[in-house]
Amino acid sequence: MGSLAPVFANRFDRVRRAMQAEGVDVLLLSVGPDLPWLTGYAAMPLERLTMLVLPVDGEATMLLPAFETARVAPHPDLFRIEGWEETHDPIARTAELVGSATELAIGDHTWSRFTVLLQGAMPQASWRNAGTVTGPLRAAKEPAEIAALQRAASGVDRVATALRGGEIPLIGRTEADVAAELGRRVVAEGHAKVNFSIVASGPNAASPHHEPGDRVIRPNEIVLCDFGGTTEEPDGQHGYCSDLTRCVFTGEIPAEIAEAYAHLLDAQQAATAAAVVGTPAGAVDAVARGHLAEHGLDHYFLHRLGHGIGVEAHEDPYLVEGNDVPLAAGNAFSVEPGVYVEGVWGARIEDIVVATDDGPRPLNTVDRELAVVDV
Ligand code: ZN
Ligand code: ZN
Ligand code: ZN
Repeated sequence: MGSLAPVFANRFDRVRRAMQAEGVDVLLLSVGPDLPWLTGYAAMPLERLTMLVLPVDGEATMLLPAFETARVAPHPDLFRIEGWEETHDPIARTAELVGSATELAIGDHTWSRFTVLLQGAMPQASWRNAGTVTGPLRAAKEPAEIAALQRAASGVDRVATALRGGEIPLIGRTEADVAAELGRRVVAEGHAKVNFSIVASGPNAASPHHEPGDRVIRPNEIVLCDFGGTTEEPDGQHGYCSDLTRCVFTGEIPAEIAEAYAHLLDAQQAATAAAVVGTPAGAVDAVARGHLAEHGLDHYFLHRLGHGIGVEAHEDPYLVEGNDVPLAAGNAFSVEPGVYVEGVWGARIEDIVVATDDGPRPLNTVDRELAVVDV
């Protein structure tokens, strides 16, 4: 047992309590982030089935290809490891382990090639997404998880500091070239991999998920940069994600853009201040939208305010109109309002924020003003 054994034991306890509360008999976890969050082991994303079969009470089994069992750090107090040989039928074996249980929850990312076969093998069962059990648990971050998210956030903050300081030349380079440099810097700042690197210049900044291409960045335009990755964590623990957006301007900022940007920043700050424990997630979205509406800018805000973040780049809770679930201590999420004027320009300001009992705490602290970078 490694030093993380107490972490996983605690998560097993919380998962089983949530299963009890939700009336789930057996949890089935394969590829996707739930399994490494719970056990430290990430299933190989291949055609051979890996499946943790976790009954609400009774022994849990990690079923996986026999020749992959050596990859699993054993936690015999939490689950037994069972290898299946090439000629065995892991679907039938999973059904055997489930037995006569009827209320099953299966990992949200499980491939349908497995799910459909499992459903055929267990016609007695009713199925739901494991996210109904694991989502709220993963959303309430433990102190060590907040610390990992802070390390991730500080890493991308340093990249943004270099961007704002003119250390990353923009004018005359393609968006794709700048995006690649941002990605290299994200990795150099403690990330195992880059999840996305958006560079959107001029009119392209009006497209929230712009794919950076061969457009050459010119003087006197906005450049929106949204980048993040997943950290490298020790001892096989799953990494945690970063996600940051900052905009810079390659020349003198026109008054109209300066004014709209100032209101966007007001909206972002007001929403951050409103992200207090107990406030419905949707109400935080409404604060940002309300401020933009006061200045006639709400029609340019095309997406929800934010998303939770953790071992996944997007996870619970979602800050969106209609989500009445109150924010809980330990929730970590983005606060990222934007204005997008089609064909003309756009801007977004994004920080990761944690709801704590002492109030909202932004993990990203790099300056949010629209910086001039004329290199
Ligand atoms: Zn982002
Ligand atoms: Zn985001
Ligand atoms: Zn304002």
